[in-house]
Amino acid sequence: ERTTVLITGCSSGIGLGLATRLATDGGFKVYATMRDPAKGERLLQRLGGRCPDTLEVLQLDVTDPRSLAAAAHRVQGQALDVLVCNAGVGLMGPLETCSDQDMKNVFDVNLFGAIRTIQAFLPAMKRRRAGRIIVSSSIGGLQGLPFNSVYCASKFAVEGLCESLAIVLRPFNIHLTLVECGPVNTSFLSNLQCPDPDGSELQGLDAETRGLYRRYLRHCQGLFRDGAQEVEEVLQVFLEAMGSPCPPLRCATTQLLAPLARLRLTDGSAYVQAMHDFVFGRGEAGGDQP
Ligand code: NAD
Repeated sequence: ERTTVLITGCSSGIGLGLATRLATDGGFKVYATMRDPAKGERLLQRLGGRCPDTLEVLQLDVTDPRSLAAAAHRVQGQALDVLVCNAGVGLMGPLETCSDQDMKNVFDVNLFGAIRTIQAFLPAMKRRRAGRIIVSSSIGGLQGLPFNSVYCASKFAVEGLCESLAIVLRPFNIHLTLVECGPVNTSFLSNLQCPDPDGSELQGLDAETRGLYRRYLRHCQGLFRDGAQEVEEVLQVFLEAMGSPCPPLRCATTQLLAPLARLRLTDGSAYVQAMHDFVFGRGEAGGDQP
């Protein structure tokens, strides 16, 4: 009996890696979904150029209810064992310059996209009284990160959503797991919206914030260069969440920022100070030294 898995956001990164891994395993039937199925080429290439019977590529845009309904219709009767809500987008920059449209898009994909996806597949899981839901969250869903306010807000919301839902899913034997990644070596960073600190978009912004933002970008690039995990390493955590008889509600893929996170447990200001010092250095923050 093969385990049936549907994954969102499979055209790149973690979703692409997970779909490839499961489709080659033999024990799974994978519905690899993506906004534009033409991007499934990369997945097929990884699988040797042709679509094995362990894989089906489906169109699914998590912001489009019709697309979700069509995908749910397509897998109807397939007894979905695992739903992986992985599609996500980032948004970086000073809060004052985040456009309404960009903010709405982040929430539409990261939060409402996850909600719509769960809504589409949950009734069948409940009827079977079995299933697993795995959601790609982030370290940014557990702690605030500078110049990522809106992204963190969306992932904090995902955390609250899932923790609340998990309580109701207990009697249905449906396990929900949040996977919190730190920096992972995917195109996430290059895919995200991020204004140039010296570009015209930030012209109206005060020089001090622009300086901090410039320093943050350098910090972030360094963190991705030196501390990013490979997709394979992160996939291990997804596989454990799929295979464990009693998976945890939360699993972090890295302990990179865990010492800082612990400081949040008091009144939070110790965390704010420590994160500030970690990113911008101790002492005077307004300057623009490396
Ligand atoms: P990625 O950009 O390669 O993958 C995200 C995928 O989501 C892309 O394939 C993109 O096309 C897809 N997507 C975007 N909007 C969509 C929509 N409306 N409908 C369907 N798919 C859509 O980056 P990734 O690192 O593989 O990201 C996967 C998940 O991991 C995201 O939820 C992200 O927030 C989370 N995450 C990533 C990192 C990281 O450093 N890479 C860190 C923490 C959390």
